[in-house]
Amino acid sequence: MGTGKNVMVFIETRHGKIADVSLELVSAANGLAASLGGSVEAVAIGYTLHKELETLGRYGCRRVYYTDDERLAHFTSIPYAKTVVRVIREHQPGVVLFGATTMGRDVAPRVASTLQCGLTADCTDLQIGEHEIKDVRYEKTLMQIRPAFGGNIIATIVSPESTPSMATVREGVMKMIDPDPAGTVEIIQEPCQVADDDFLTEILEVVSEEKQVNLKAAQIIVSAGMGASDPEALELVRDLARLLGGELGCSRPVVDSGVLVKDHQVGQTGTTVRPNLYIACGISGQIQHRAGMSEAKRIIAINRDPQAPIFAIAHYGIVGDVKDVLTKMIKAYKTKA
Ligand SMILES: Cc1cc2nc3c(=O)[nH]c(=O)nc-3n(C[C@H](O)[C@H](O)[C@H](O)COP(=O)(O)OP(=O)(O)OC[C@H]3O[C@@H](n4cnc5c(N)ncnc54)[C@H](O)[C@@H]3O)c2cc1C
Repeated sequence: MGTGKNVMVFIETRHGKIADVSLELVSAANGLAASLGGSVEAVAIGYTLHKELETLGRYGCRRVYYTDDERLAHFTSIPYAKTVVRVIREHQPGVVLFGATTMGRDVAPRVASTLQCGLTADCTDLQIGEHEIKDVRYEKTLMQIRPAFGGNIIATIVSPESTPSMATVREGVMKMIDPDPAGTVEIIQEPCQVADDDFLTEILEVVSEEKQVNLKAAQIIVSAGMGASDPEALELVRDLARLLGGELGCSRPVVDSGVLVKDHQVGQTGTTVRPNLYIACGISGQIQHRAGMSEAKRIIAINRDPQAPIFAIAHYGIVGDVKDVLTKMIKAYKTKA
């Protein structure tokens, strides 16, 4: 089956469910595989996941190479990485995609160094294109696109001399397609070839903590930047979010200064969101923040600086002091509601 044209996605599961980031990557893989003339495949590792893996078919995945073993029920670095390497060597995809998650960031570099192939972290876009270097022309190569140098440039990275090309992508960056209820996937059972010696750590207990906020699922987000990070302004931002039935977001310095926890952070190193409405309060709108929210359907920006970059992408801009504007908005909403 190995054609070098197929796109393989590493499937993460959490509590027996496929993680959203894996479905987003499978969705994105459809376009890439079509450009390469191949199909979408997946590599999955775990225990008793057969039923759950059928979901992949509805997102366009045609084959999943599944290693099922009780010892692999919970993630451990070396056995998972060894299994992925074995599946890649056997089935030879042209492209392999991982979520830029704790698990993906652990497995992907181990796999890349074993296979001696390129890996680009935190891609924000993936395309298939042509590349020419030293008079050698590479057709249909993976263009791995990501911000570089602190977000000041958008770099396109290629690694055409080694196969497969590998990339990690953060959760929420790729859009999940609508599932096709008729889509099916072939589940191919792979032999488990990890030895007991590969398990260098023993998992005694799994303690999971629910996220405090679910920005990804929120349809309305009201976000505080440094211009709205003092207690009085932040309370107004919180009030508006509550009134609108939305979530509270923020920029990175608000997290760095200890005002809010990281779950609230929107942007390149936070969560990528696509709500119906995003209200940016006292946020300058630097590229790293915009990378996480520019695809919101409607953006309202409140800033006292008319030159603030956020206004370049806002559908509605309000120039003024954040406390004055928010107080008026809350009052107006309460009067109307
Ligand atoms: C590698 C890297 C990754 C990063 N990742 C992220 C990320 O994921 N998310 C993120 O947000 N940032 C990220 N950053 C930081 C980013 O570059 C900016 O520094 C940050 O977004 C700025 O946050 P801010 O707009 O809240 O603060 P500031 O830039 O300080 O802007 C504050 C704004 O508030 C306005 N203001 C001040 N007072 C008032 C008032 N009373 N009323 C109205 N407006 C007022 C000001 O005019 C200003 O525009 C990253 C940076 C790097 C280098």
